[in-house]
Amino acid sequence: MSTKDYLEKDYYAVLGVPKTATADEIKKAYRKLARQYHPDTNQGDATKETKFKEVSEAYDVLSDTKRRKEYDEARTLFGSGVGGQRPGGGGFPFDFGDLFGGTAQQGGQTGGAGERLGDLFGGLFNRGGSTRTTTTSRPRRGQDIESEVTLTFTEAVEGTTVSLRLTSSAACAACTGTGAKAGTTPRVCPTCEGTGAASRNLGNFAFSEPCRDCKGRGLIVDVPCPVCEGSGRAKSTRTIQARIPAGVADGQRVKLKAKGAPGENGGPAGDLYIQTHVKPHAVFGRSGDNLTITVPVTFSEAALGAEIKVPTLKGMPVTLRIPAGTPNGRTFRVRGRGVTRKDGTKGDLLASVEVVVPKTLDDKSRELLNEFSTAVASEDPRAELIQRARSE
Ligand SMILES: [Zn+2]
Ligand SMILES: [Zn+2]
Repeated sequence: MSTKDYLEKDYYAVLGVPKTATADEIKKAYRKLARQYHPDTNQGDATKETKFKEVSEAYDVLSDTKRRKEYDEARTLFGSGVGGQRPGGGGFPFDFGDLFGGTAQQGGQTGGAGERLGDLFGGLFNRGGSTRTTTTSRPRRGQDIESEVTLTFTEAVEGTTVSLRLTSSAACAACTGTGAKAGTTPRVCPTCEGTGAASRNLGNFAFSEPCRDCKGRGLIVDVPCPVCEGSGRAKSTRTIQARIPAGVADGQRVKLKAKGAPGENGGPAGDLYIQTHVKPHAVFGRSGDNLTITVPVTFSEAALGAEIKVPTLKGMPVTLRIPAGTPNGRTFRVRGRGVTRKDGTKGDLLASVEVVVPKTLDDKSRELLNEFSTAVASEDPRAELIQRARSE
């Protein structure tokens, strides 16, 4: 991402959130927009695709605490866009080149910010020098790509490998990204002499902006490539195998470094972000790293104690000893039968017992239960309840 983007783009407006938005609010806004503009659901709609890229870019910056801070600082210092006034600026002429070369003094309110911003803007303002690199031959980082995947409960717990069809922008193969018809060569833009940047004077400010004649590319194409219509860009679709780590939760965004679009001219690949959806399981639930399960037991098992079989996810059932006098709803912990954590250790299986009452009884059972009932007739389980209700 160009540092210049920080001044020109209002990422908060793109996501439709206030500057004071919390990380959660930003995430929520992003998800809604990403769904709305996702290329998979808007085949060939270029406007929506552009919008999707803008939204992703805004989220990349605002979701990263460090980058969001840099962005906020840059915009506080210079205002949004080119109209900003330097705090305490006394009306003397200066230009950003001096400012970021480290010779100019910062105003009192912003003391200390200069050095950090020097790094931030280095790439932008050092372009006017004698090094005439053209835009097309510079290493270019591949795009970040957003994708989605729906996993079964077990796949999410154990980790899995999924096939993903990814569409990204790449250099046009016909013109190798130059935008000029095969056999012709783009020429260096005479206006900016190939730098792609032009200086604009705004009163006391000399602001660098993309050259209008070449749109910041530094090159002029006389005969456009017929395949990409001179843009130099093409769509590339490929299928990759992506490893989803064990233990992802529903709604989690998994980042796979360098699995995005390939870089160009030796630039690094972009990253791949996968939004995961996890289907619920018929039997097991999840509570963080632990799996949960409700296990039916009979009244006599709970009262007398018993060894019961409890199913595990992808494994043999385990035997659980429940002690005599186990109350309904008590939860037992089966160690190491939960969700695999990042470090390879496992969470636990939390088994809650639920006493079931037989719907029908045969004669023998009824007889025995009546006998039991007579035996415990002296104990009134509601005596204390009634007493306490009265004493309030
Ligand atoms: Zn130019
Ligand atoms: Zn082309």
